[in-house]
Amino acid sequence: MAGLVCYPSFCKTCGELLENRRDRILCSACLEKIRPHRAPVCPVCGRFFEGEADGHLCGRCSVSPPPFARHRSAGRYEGVLKDALLLLKYRRFRPLGRVLGGMAYEALKADEEFWRGVGLVVPVPLHRKRLRERGFNQSGEIAREISRRTGIPFDPRALKKTKPTPPQTSLEQKERMKNVRDVYAPERRHVLSGRVILLVDDVFTTGSTAGECARVMRREGASEVRVLTVAQA
Ligand SMILES: [Zn+2]
Ligand SMILES: [Zn+2]
Repeated sequence: MAGLVCYPSFCKTCGELLENRRDRILCSACLEKIRPHRAPVCPVCGRFFEGEADGHLCGRCSVSPPPFARHRSAGRYEGVLKDALLLLKYRRFRPLGRVLGGMAYEALKADEEFWRGVGLVVPVPLHRKRLRERGFNQSGEIAREISRRTGIPFDPRALKKTKPTPPQTSLEQKERMKNVRDVYAPERRHVLSGRVILLVDDVFTTGSTAGECARVMRREGASEVRVLTVAQA
C-alpha cells in the first residue's frame, strides 16, 4: 500500500492551518468560541429572554401555545455557530452535522425534563428534490448524532415533506406559516403513535416549521413533541 499523502487543510472560518489531525473543517480555536446559551428561556418555546426572567411564559406562548410541548436551542444564531450551520447547509460540509449535533447535545444534556421519556428522534425532513441537490439532510445529520449520543432510536423517514417550498428565510413571518402548512406528512405512521418525539432542526426562527411538523405528528398519534435546534435566530 502506498503511503498516505496528506494535503494541508485550512479552517473554513478563520483560514488557519488545521494542525491537529483530528480537526476537520473548523479549527479547535474556532469551535471553542461557540458558547452554549445559559441565560433564562421561555419554558415552552425556548426563546431566549433578554435580561432577567423568572421562568414565566413568553408573551406569545401565554396567548397561543405552540403545538410542541417545549423547544430548546443550544445557542444563538451568530458568530462561529452561524458560520458552521451555513457551511453545513449551503457548502455541504457534511461532517459538521456530527460536530454540531454533539455540541447541541452537550449544551442541553443537563436538562433532564427535556430528555425524559423521549422515544424517537426525528429530523425535520427535506423535500426529495432538495435532498437530491444537497446530497444529505443537514437536520438529519444533527439528529443522527443526537441519537448516537443518547441511544434513543432515530428515524429519518418518520416524516416526509410532500411539497417543495421556497426557503423560509425569504419570507416574512405570516408567509412562513402559510408556506409550511400541509407540506409535511407521516411516512411511517406507526412509529409515531404513542411516543414522545424529539424533533430536530438546524435553526429556529419563528417556529413555524417546528410547529407544523409537531402538529402533524400529534395528529398522527405522537403523545408529545419536543423540539431541539442547534441555534435560534
Ligand atoms: Zn478557525
Ligand atoms: Zn414562549
